[in-house]
Amino acid sequence: VFDNVTKSYHVSNVIKGISLRIKKGEFVFIVGDSGSGKSTLLRCATLLETMDGGDLIYLGDYAAKADEEGKAVYGDKDTLQAVKKHFGLVFQNYALYPHMTVKQNILFPLENLTGKDKLNKTQMLERAYETAKLVQIDELMERKPSELSGGQQQRVAIARALVKFPRILLLDEPLSNLDARLRLQTREEIKRIQKETGITTIF
Ligand code: ADP
Ligand code: MG
Repeated sequence: VFDNVTKSYHVSNVIKGISLRIKKGEFVFIVGDSGSGKSTLLRCATLLETMDGGDLIYLGDYAAKADEEGKAVYGDKDTLQAVKKHFGLVFQNYALYPHMTVKQNILFPLENLTGKDKLNKTQMLERAYETAKLVQIDELMERKPSELSGGQQQRVAIARALVKFPRILLLDEPLSNLDARLRLQTREEIKRIQKETGITTIF
């Protein structure tokens, strides 16, 4: 839930009171002109950016809550850490690790899990292959990113975002680096993956 979210940079009000309630399993598209604030909203949603005002609620927990003057007050470190665990993020420039294979790129987020989320090597490999299969790159696991097409690289980026089984998938113009044909194809892929996983998605 975004409730009356505001965000300014210096004097420009980029987000002027957006309220949006996204239900579990929904696939929401946010469209707008370049510079209209789509990335800003998404960055606020991912807690990479702090909003000025409003509420931000995930699965019933407040990440930020407006005070009496409407100013967004963020939760403590543990609360935000718990919220952040729900996200899978995919950005326009997919930033794969160039020196790692596809498999290592996908395994990477799993290797950083701690505490009760920690997986053993076999479980990690199972997850990595399962996710790679979902985005149809399981036959490319030993390749380096430089040996893949743009569309394949983008799918690796999506696999990397999905491998932790996030509750919420956030995609910021994930197709803009692809040519027209691949863009169509990858868009269909993303729709299919969203349907198959039922993951709440903001695109
Ligand atoms: P979109 O993703 O819809 O193209 P953005 O959210 O990236 O738009 O940008 C919205 C507006 O905020 C633009 O006018 C942009 O110049 C401005 N902006 C974005 N990030 C910053 C920043 N870190 N500092 C100052 N202005 C910014
Ligand atoms: Mg943008």
